[in-house]
Amino acid sequence: MRYVIRGGAVLSMDPAVGDFAAADVLVEGKKIVAIAPSIDVRDAAVIEAKGSIVMPGFIDTHHHEFETALRSFLADGLLFNDGQPHGTVNYFDFILGKFAGVYRPRDVHISILFGSLSQLDAGVTAVLDVSQIHHSPEHTDAAIKGLADSGRRAALGYFEGHGDKTKYPDDARRVKTQYFSSSDQLLTMIMGGEIYLPGYDKTWRIGRELELPIATHVLGNFGIPKAFAERVQAKQIGPDNLFIHMTAMPDSAWKAVADAGAGVSIAVPIEMTMRHGAPPILKAMELAIEPSLSTDVECTMTADFFTQMRSMMTFQRGLVNDRALAGESGLPRLLSSRDVIRYATLEGAKHLKLDRKVGTLAPGKEADIILLDATAINVAPLNHVPGAVVTLMDRSNVDCVIVAGKVRKWRGRLLDVDLAALSRELESSRDYLFNAAGVDRNLFRS
Ligand SMILES: [Zn+2]
Repeated sequence: MRYVIRGGAVLSMDPAVGDFAAADVLVEGKKIVAIAPSIDVRDAAVIEAKGSIVMPGFIDTHHHEFETALRSFLADGLLFNDGQPHGTVNYFDFILGKFAGVYRPRDVHISILFGSLSQLDAGVTAVLDVSQIHHSPEHTDAAIKGLADSGRRAALGYFEGHGDKTKYPDDARRVKTQYFSSSDQLLTMIMGGEIYLPGYDKTWRIGRELELPIATHVLGNFGIPKAFAERVQAKQIGPDNLFIHMTAMPDSAWKAVADAGAGVSIAVPIEMTMRHGAPPILKAMELAIEPSLSTDVECTMTADFFTQMRSMMTFQRGLVNDRALAGESGLPRLLSSRDVIRYATLEGAKHLKLDRKVGTLAPGKEADIILLDATAINVAPLNHVPGAVVTLMDRSNVDCVIVAGKVRKWRGRLLDVDLAALSRELESSRDYLFNAAGVDRNLFRS
């Protein structure tokens, strides 16, 4: 397989490669071989890219894909019940308390597969699937099959499950040996090590024994700041940690993250709407920490990355602009469209330990590439490449999607999938889940 992506505006996100108003990208097998203004190849197929922006696929570092069947159910919900009428239907009581426990392996599979394909369609070529649904080894196998069946690059986040058949965390050894012994594949594994659950010392130990990165939700409540301080005290924070949210955490925790070179994944829209706390972008910038972006939960918000990037940029600028208007000096710099694209690509790759393979367009890297239509009615005429991506585009502009050299979306259509059949399966799973959880599916609940 050898083809050239011809004549697009190339936003490589790789400092050594740079930007091109028009260039060719040559792909051979899984890899990018060359990027140059004009590549003379006669024996390669051609993907015409004039009028398109050619850039690396987006990378989502925190997404609970098992909740795809519950999309839009919790659009107005908080993380927990605050005792007010708006708190009654909330994430802890409903999504985790009622729904998660009734999932069968087949529900895990179809939700993860459908959610993965939906993100692939939107140009998100890699994900950390934080699957807190490992009720049994069969649930784990189904989660991995869902990721594999999508043909997308993914890290299985091996987190906890519910009930007496769960084998978390000890089954991590089998899972690693059975599915993740090769590094030359689209799927990788990350250990879930929640510090609000008892026994986190053991989950972190197993993760490190298996040489897996460790991902952890970190919020300023549920006893997490105290547990985090204990991890710091025990010198357990390392560059293999990925901390999700980091909202409302004390400066001492941030210092430990910065000193260790650990990763931080921020879920801007979810943290604002579900009351995790303000997205900690200014704190991260103060310590020169570059975050990656999280879509988190589709029961409450879309998992597309245009929403992610726009939310991050406008939220940060809103905070800084208010302070500027109040006459403050010495302000943090304003985020630019290129900054948030870097969070959405290269920083995501770093945090999933995939930056050797993907995250930028460069010779030698695997070809995870998206083509965005800059001639579309919502974008034309093109006057600034990163700006058009962040401030104008949406998933309708994602024209072609390539994962490890393989074209998965072509001229606006996903390839090799029977979406009608998958939708029916997802709806049937949804019907079972609401029924088994005893939750009324009121389409107009206020
Ligand atoms: Zn989460």
